[in-house]
Amino acid sequence: MRVKLNITGIVQGVGFRPFIYRIAIKNGLAGYVRNRGDAGVEIFLEGKEQNVKSFMRDLTEKKPPLAQIDAIKSIELSGKNQYDKFTIYKSSEEAELSGSIIPPDIAICNECLAELRDPKNPRYEYFFITCTNCGPRFTIIERLPYDRENTTMREFPLCGFCQKEYNDPANRRFHAQTVACPECGPKAYLTTRTGEQIQAKDPVREAGKLLSEGNVLAIKGYGGFHIAASTMQEKPLEALRTTKHRREKPFAIMAKNLGAVKSFAEVTSKEQELLSSPARPIVLLNKNANYNLSPLVAPNLHNVGVMLPYTGLHYMLFDQVDDLAFVMTSANPPNQPIVKDNDEALKTLGSTVDYFLFHNRKIAHRCDDSVMRTHGSRQVFLRRSRGYAPAPIRLKAKSKRCVVGLGGELNNTACVLLDDKAFISQHVGDVENVETRVFLQEATNHLYQLTNCHAGIVVCDLHPKFTTTTLAKEMAEADGLPLIQVQHHHAHAAGLMAEHNLEEAVTVVCDGYGYGTDGEAWGGEILFCTRESSEFKRLGHLEPQPLLGGDVASRYPLRVAVGMLAKAGVNAEPWLMKNSAHLPFGETEANLIIEQLAKGCGTVETTSCGRVLDAVSAVLGVCYERSYEGEPAMKLESAAVNGKDALNLKPIMHGDTLDTATLLRSVFENKQKLSMSDLAYSVHAYLAKGLASLAVEKALVLGVRAVGFSGGAACNQILAKVMRRTVEEAGLRFLVHEAVPAGDGGVSFGQAVVGGFSRF
Ligand SMILES: [Zn+2]
Ligand SMILES: [Zn+2]
Repeated sequence: MRVKLNITGIVQGVGFRPFIYRIAIKNGLAGYVRNRGDAGVEIFLEGKEQNVKSFMRDLTEKKPPLAQIDAIKSIELSGKNQYDKFTIYKSSEEAELSGSIIPPDIAICNECLAELRDPKNPRYEYFFITCTNCGPRFTIIERLPYDRENTTMREFPLCGFCQKEYNDPANRRFHAQTVACPECGPKAYLTTRTGEQIQAKDPVREAGKLLSEGNVLAIKGYGGFHIAASTMQEKPLEALRTTKHRREKPFAIMAKNLGAVKSFAEVTSKEQELLSSPARPIVLLNKNANYNLSPLVAPNLHNVGVMLPYTGLHYMLFDQVDDLAFVMTSANPPNQPIVKDNDEALKTLGSTVDYFLFHNRKIAHRCDDSVMRTHGSRQVFLRRSRGYAPAPIRLKAKSKRCVVGLGGELNNTACVLLDDKAFISQHVGDVENVETRVFLQEATNHLYQLTNCHAGIVVCDLHPKFTTTTLAKEMAEADGLPLIQVQHHHAHAAGLMAEHNLEEAVTVVCDGYGYGTDGEAWGGEILFCTRESSEFKRLGHLEPQPLLGGDVASRYPLRVAVGMLAKAGVNAEPWLMKNSAHLPFGETEANLIIEQLAKGCGTVETTSCGRVLDAVSAVLGVCYERSYEGEPAMKLESAAVNGKDALNLKPIMHGDTLDTATLLRSVFENKQKLSMSDLAYSVHAYLAKGLASLAVEKALVLGVRAVGFSGGAACNQILAKVMRRTVEEAGLRFLVHEAVPAGDGGVSFGQAVVGGFSRF
């Protein structure tokens, strides 16, 4: 029998060819295997029919742990046998629209970790030890196929020992492109903040000691630089907060191991599974009763973002110190992408850190850490990046066309949709300036290159002034492609429906801001969408509230609160004057706000759920200034964690609008009577019950069986829990995101879905 197989999925960079080689030999077959230029693998087999059949069984049953087979195309050929043995051939450049992709970066595997600790192993204490089952992939690959010369490992020719393992079919590093050892692989070195090299026999452990002694370090990893510091000492953290202009934004931390995590945080079995998974995301964990890290790590929050080491280097940092965890936050100057190049790091981080821990391997593509949390046993993505990108989201239906979605503005990603696969880029960040715009373009082009696809439609947000809208227009024009603009919350809802393969749903979408079809600021919406239509119906929303001073109000929630209270007939002037110190221009500003209020004209309105939570946050004294995205709402959730619905306010509806002014008045009037945590909880309960009941009512009228919850606020545990209860009690299905971020990191995906599935 002579057969040619084309296999697609994640089959390069996961030890697939060595595996094929082994099962071909085992089954006595001749022929070859090779990587293709489209990230797929081609196999040619010659031998007895029963042996080919047994090979096919092995192929599906024994494939390497990280490999993912999407499709096997096989053609039987006639003619005489040509091969007398089985060989791994040089890769071909041949490519078609295969839907295959290279894998994400993978955390160090247990076997490599054991070798790292084994004094008899030649890679003992080698900080970049890897094999076919682990190591960087996405961040080192410049082009396909995945061969060493197409990666940034090209600059490190294999030594004799590594070469021998690379050529040995019985070895775990047979054809492992990242194989390296202390002899031939990348080297780590320490420098001062100005780049002068410091002589150290063991630079990685020395870096650990420097951290423990209270220094701030920039540490180069797989996808970029981290800023690292002690989690116990105030001084370095204070310095970091001042120089990074991050007064309150929580720092992610890396803990030595699971035991260390459990010493300061609660860990459920689902959280443990996520923490230790090969993707090693940052997981938001509730601080426990023994939490003793510096209050400067995650100020005024009930949770802290924790990850486990994912390279040998990270493990070694903890070897010679007593510290259980270090701060490990992405090194990026304000509104800039994460720093990835050594020169760039010296230039931009030199004033922030005391030392650098460099290595001399180039990073081809930057990639921030992923961030997740759990809702019970469900995972929620806050950021889907390292460890996940560029692995596709598999859909149950096929897109009509190849589409690219460029996302919105904040926490952005790009998405290429091809057939039944959505390839979402790594986290790009807030696309507000040249640097992040360039990064978004690079990330999009890299997706094109990796998927061998070029979109036939460009999709972007409805906002006329977003940088991504301008970019989309330019891309569409340059390639002569149609451009489609999708409303922000529609994109959220469409993404959620696609994740669950639904034709139609009523979706509650809550977040901070999205440009509405009427040009107004939306953010607390109930939408009815279908897969077939590029249009949607807005069924209801939160009560529009004034934003005194426009955009400034989203920075200073006192402004939102005063406007809302005035609407509810409360004279909040004395309260505002009392709290005027929390405004940048104090009493003068408070007086101006009062004047503006009296005039009542020229004020922008919003239905944003985020702004309501902000206002409550200010009324309760939880947060007066948003110094980072989502801060007042996050702190309000923290305040509500141990509360109950003491206010027990029945949702007040004005037609299809949920009243929020009365809600805020009740909070204001009960400030002395009820506890802060009960009031904070009551607000969550009111909004969730009110929106969910309205959505249920609408769904029943429309005959729709599913109600979804999307938008950044869907990451909120309390809102999601109360909403689920309300929807399920009504006998309807409740949908949430599990594969794609609920927040704006999922917008590009939703846009691509609308562009790919709807009829035009
Ligand atoms: Zn390994
Ligand atoms: Zn070597």
